[in-house]
Parts: sequence; C-alpha cells; structure tokens
Amino acid sequence: MPNKFLRMKIKELVNLKDKESIFRFFNDRINTYNDELNAFTEIIPDPDRTSGEGPLNGIPYALKDNILARGTKTTCGSKILSNYKSVYDATVTKRLRDSGAILMGKTNMDEFAMGSSTEFSAFGPSKNPWDANRVPGGSSGGSAAAVAAGLVPFALGSDTGGSIRQPAAFCGVVGYKPSYGLVSRYGLVAFASSLDQIGPITRCVDDAVEVAKVIIGFDPDDSTTIEHPLNFENEEPKDLTGLKFALPGEMIEYPGLQESVKEVFIKMVESIEKAGGIVEKVSIPSLKYVVATYYLIAPGEASSNLSRYDGIRYGQRKDADRYEEVVNQSRDFGFGDEVKRRILLGTFTLSAAYYDAYYRKALRVRKLISKEINEILSKYDFVINPTSPIVAPKIGEISDPLTYYLMDIYTIPANLAGLPAISLPAGAYEGLPVGFQMMARRFEDVRMLNTARILEKLSPSYDENGLARIAERWY
Ligand code: GLN
Repeated sequence: MPNKFLRMKIKELVNLKDKESIFRFFNDRINTYNDELNAFTEIIPDPDRTSGEGPLNGIPYALKDNILARGTKTTCGSKILSNYKSVYDATVTKRLRDSGAILMGKTNMDEFAMGSSTEFSAFGPSKNPWDANRVPGGSSGGSAAAVAAGLVPFALGSDTGGSIRQPAAFCGVVGYKPSYGLVSRYGLVAFASSLDQIGPITRCVDDAVEVAKVIIGFDPDDSTTIEHPLNFENEEPKDLTGLKFALPGEMIEYPGLQESVKEVFIKMVESIEKAGGIVEKVSIPSLKYVVATYYLIAPGEASSNLSRYDGIRYGQRKDADRYEEVVNQSRDFGFGDEVKRRILLGTFTLSAAYYDAYYRKALRVRKLISKEINEILSKYDFVINPTSPIVAPKIGEISDPLTYYLMDIYTIPANLAGLPAISLPAGAYEGLPVGFQMMARRFEDVRMLNTARILEKLSPSYDENGLARIAERWY
C-alpha cells in the first residue's frame, strides 16, 4: 500500500474519491503494528462504513476506551469493566458517525483515566512510537501512540488534568483540550466531571479543527454544554504581529523542568518573538498549589463517580454470600492500585471531619488560581509554557505516584479554570518530542487554534505538507 495517505491532511483525505483504499491502508496498519505498540484495547473486525456523506466522510479514527460506542467494549483500561459492552453511543461518537468518520477501534489508557503513562492500564502499557522502551504518556496514551505511528489520522482522548495534551507532547503530535462546556461528556465515563473534557489528537491544527467542528456543540444530554456556537470561519489573527504571550515565571523556573525541554521551549519562544509576537514574563503566585488542588478535587469527584462500579449492575462480579461482600470483593478484585489510592483519598477528603480542611479549601484555591490566570488573560492573548516538564520516561522508570502527579503542573491550570489549551510539537531532544502549550480565554478556542496554526510553521517538528513528522520507521 502506498503511504501517501500519511502525507495528507484530513481535508485532503476527505476529498479523495477512493475511500476503500484509505480504509484498507489504515486497517492494515492497525493490524500490522498494534502488537508492537499496544495502542488499541479493541480493534473492530469489520468497522461500520455505512454512514453517508459528511465532513469526515471515510476518515478512520480511534476512540479512547472511556468513550462509549454501541456494540464495542468500553473497559476504561480496568479489569472491573473488562467484559463491559457499551449499550449506547456517546454524543461525540454519534456526531462522528453522522459525519462519515469510521470507528476502527478503542484505545488503551490508564485505568479510569488516572495516570500519565498508560502504565496503570490493566492491559499493559502502550509504547511510544519514537522509542518503544518509553511510555507514550497518558492517560490517553493509546490514542496518541496510534496517531503518532500513523495508524489513524485522528483519535479522541479525554482530558481531566492533561490527558490529551501530555501524551500528544510525548508522542510529537497535536492535542487540543476544548473550553469546558463545548464538547458533550454524555457517554464519556466520568472521572472528575467538573474537569473532564473530550478533544482530538491529530497531526496538525487543521485536522484538530476539522474534528472540533464535528464534536463541539450543545447537547441536551449534558447540561454543562453551552449554546454558544463557535465561529470557525473567523480568520483572526492572521499573523503574530502584536499578539501578546504571557510566560509564567514560576513555570519556566520550576525546578522539575528538564534542561532539554527548556531549551526546545525557549527556541520556540524566540521564533515567536522573531515573527512579531510579544512574549512577557508574568507571575501566577498560586501555581505552587495547582497540583495539590487538583489531587484533592479530582479524587473527590472520582470517589463519587466510581461508586457505581459495585459488581452488581455491570462489569466483573465476585460471588459471595452477602451483598456487601459481593461489592467489596468485586471492587477489590476489579480496581487497580492507583484507582484504589484515589478512591481512598477522595473518600477521606469528602468525609464530614475533613471536608472543610481539604475539599472546601481546594475549591477556594481553584477559584483563586482561575482568577489569577484570567487576570493575566485580560492583559495577554495567551499563556504559554512547556506541556510537560520532562520528555517521555522509560517504561517503569517512574515508580512513585507523587513524581507523576507533580509532572501535571503545566496542564492542570487549564482544567481548573475551564480554559481551552493546545499542545503542539515544538522540536525534540535526542529524538524525543517536546510539547509547547498555549492556553487562551474561555471560549476563545478559534482564536487559539488560528494562532496555533501560525506557530506550527515556526516549529521544526513538521514536514513539508504541514503535518507533524512521525518517526522514520513508520513511513
Ligand atoms: N495525570 C492526571 C491524573 O492522573 C491527568 C489525568 C487526566 O487528564 N485524565 O489524574
């Protein structure tokens, strides 16, 4: 099969008449390479290709395995749901089906989206296409690996604290988290409902926009979606002249930031300045609290959301004599260590004795952090920073959970404040991709995406067709 399809953007693929060849090409690649990458938890043997003409007509894609697609399994990377089949379509799945996109399979993830590497998947880690000894990031690591190895033109992920952007950064592709409230969460298995948002992982911003146009929109089934149509025809801005980028000092001086990542990031900043953008240092004093705040709020919500996995209604059940025993044993057997850790933490912080001291305080700090960032965004167009302080670590290299938690410092703020954010490949260090993140005012997603398109042209990570380069061996 010719690999010319790996050099085409989604729009170009949509315009091709021969949809059969596109399908066979990507289908073959998935079946050939997935054993190596473990990107998919389920490959659909005979994908439904009956949906008609639409803006994504004939475009193969993959769904993170916490998003429902009727008739496919939805395991959430967990043993407890290893036998669970979706009984309905998520709103995003339905929208994509109606747009003509073809669902090829479900992708691997950290269990219930808790993690940063896919090492917490009950089905083993996915591999980073740039170096198979390394993690692809997480929790949407399978989606990022699949796109970065050219197995699908795009995949959906979910982002609660960085799970679209961080794996995109580790795999050298584009990850876009829309403003909270733009994409329906109906049919997304909830982790932390006030933070979760679905978004695309692609090889360029144009492709992210094509997918965003389809999945964004009001949904009566998700009361947090807004009737706020984005105007994707808005062309502004056309270049970087006069655009103001805020660079938080606390982020660039963060002691955990690897020198190599910093170097690649600074090069990008210099290119922005050369192209007419204004970059200024700002301060987010409360940045030092974001990780703690997130790891109180997210587990709190998760402990409530995950109470539905009782072994009674669906999923794996352990048999016992009494109801309580069935529930206890099913949960003990079905959940992995990280999920248990979070349920324990969340249950503790929500308990009557500690609610005020931890959970309520975290909600207040969340407000404070949002206020500080929104104040910056009232004077600047965008906040910029590296997506992750490190490049992809080796599988097994990081073993204590706290080290992984601390790495989320750059991505969490956008979730806490409900802001749109995007990670772009900005170069590499010794062959390992580095991500550049941009955050914008809430609902100014189009302006951010248009600007990201301009930034792509400054990045060394793209080929002559405007697509993020994938590692040589996958061409
Ligand atoms: N790494 C973060 C966590 O473990 C973010 C996960 C996510 O965005 N789903 O919670």
